[in-house]
Amino acid sequence: MNKTCTTNDGCSCTANHAIACSVTSCAHHCKNENYCGLNSIRVGTHETNPAMDQCTDCQSFKKF
Ligand code: SF4
Repeated sequence: MNKTCTTNDGCSCTANHAIACSVTSCAHHCKNENYCGLNSIRVGTHETNPAMDQCTDCQSFKKF
């Protein structure tokens, strides 16, 4: 099981291979692998009618 671990707090990140991510400025990103370290994430939108991938956001993002 993946533990909820951030690169921010100094413990090693367990990559969740079900969540590929390239946002290296996020505290939940596993530096050495392009994956998220969370067990699950929440995706949302800032648009009224999202029509393309740019309209969606990872709402689990946390600034590193
Ligand atoms: S929380 Fe979202 S933005 Fe941050 S590493 Fe995970 S998937 Fe990427």
